[in-house]
Amino acid sequence: MLATGGTIAGQAGDASKTAGYKAGVVGVDKLLEAVPALSSVARIHAEQFASIDSKDMSAALWTALSRRIDTLLAQDDIDGVVVTHGTDTLEETAYLLHLTVKRAKPVVLTAAMRPSTALSADGPLNLLNAVSVAASQDAAGKGVLVAFNNQIHSARDVAKTSTYAVDAFRAPETGALGFVQDGRVEFQRTVVRPHTVASEFSVTDEWPMVEIVTSHADASRVTVDALVAAGARGIVVAGTGNGSMHATLTHALADAVKKGVAVVRSSRVGSGHVMRNGAASDDALGTISAGTLNPYKARVLLMLALASGAQDLQRIFDTY
Ligand code: ASP
Repeated sequence: MLATGGTIAGQAGDASKTAGYKAGVVGVDKLLEAVPALSSVARIHAEQFASIDSKDMSAALWTALSRRIDTLLAQDDIDGVVVTHGTDTLEETAYLLHLTVKRAKPVVLTAAMRPSTALSADGPLNLLNAVSVAASQDAAGKGVLVAFNNQIHSARDVAKTSTYAVDAFRAPETGALGFVQDGRVEFQRTVVRPHTVASEFSVTDEWPMVEIVTSHADASRVTVDALVAAGARGIVVAGTGNGSMHATLTHALADAVKKGVAVVRSSRVGSGHVMRNGAASDDALGTISAGTLNPYKARVLLMLALASGAQDLQRIFDTY
């Protein structure tokens, strides 16, 4: 178990507090102590890998985490890894690991919406369920998984969809892969896009600069021009609706493409797909469509693709 912080390790001054608390302060030993039933599911070796609020996740920490998981899973006496994480950027870390950990053994992320000190804290059961999934043979070969609120999701499709609800994680386009209940782990769907051992990507120590801009009423070109001037290698657009973009932003992005910046069209809507040459002519603009990846996951894939030196970005977005 690699603990990284988050609300699952959060502490409030008073048990009735589910909003005013500090994330990432309770140590992994304390989290384990709160769930005695874990000892009947697995033998756990725990590491305090980081102690952060996941809103502050960095690409450097992603690199270190991916490499640490790979090293651990290479050991014969380790059957799976559970990562405890904050919910804010969990979907990004999960997708990054899904595409960079080169092992078929289970890797399961979990988190909590309520701090560990709260009445009805959701962390302990999520932790137990995540360990049950990681200990299940059925979880191998499915890529990185997220166990949350009794559901099992694929890292590719899951997203945080609520600010406070304990069922905050959904996969809007695909639904959950399965469920975990009272130790029973059941998968009902599989993951078809390549990941882990079949992925062409690796983490790096030199990440390209890739940023996200949003299209909205009255959008200007200020952000795009500033990013290009700052040396951005990639820009993901959180477009309106089906990846449509304000005309002013479209002009700025077309100029960015001409300067060698990779531009990917995604949507700010939260579900549905963005079709190539749908709301905008990708052929004419030189842009890439993100398909069903939300802007945050599209950014992860674009970072990995640019770091790998790939030229055929649309193939990559169509594949992963
Ligand atoms: N801000 C927290 C984090 O992402 C929220 C959470 O874990 O639910 O670390």
